[in-house]
Order: sequence, then structure tokens, then C-alpha cells
Amino acid sequence: MPSEKAKANKALTATCVACNKPVSTEVAVSLTGVEDGRHKQYVVCNKCANGGWRPPGFEGMLSFRRE
Ligand SMILES: [Zn+2]
Repeated sequence: MPSEKAKANKALTATCVACNKPVSTEVAVSLTGVEDGRHKQYVVCNKCANGGWRPPGFEGMLSFRRE
């Protein structure tokens, strides 16, 4: 359960494209895939990434986000 303090402190959230849940960018990774011939960043939570989810056209580059 998010506290008001945590919200004010860091409001960096993203929506995991795999499970569609809002996640903190602290526990998400950005994967590079290809959509319509263009590179695109897909944000997925660590759980989905560790579970093997990869975007279409994924070329094996995995960049972890740490802030
Ligand atoms: Zn997820």
C-alpha cells in the first residue's frame, strides 16, 4: 500500500506492458523491441522480465534502470 510520503518522494511509475499493472520504475526494466519497423522501449516489471517476457523484435539488449 503506497503511502503519501512515498508518493511525494518519488512519483516515478510506469505501466508494465506485460501485466498492465502500475509499477515503480525502480523495479522495472526497459526493453528495446521493434514495432512497425521502429525501435521502441517497453517497460516491464522485474517479475515479468524474470518470467521471460520479451517485446516483439527484442534483440537481446537488456538495460536495467537504477535510480
Ligand atoms: Zn509485469
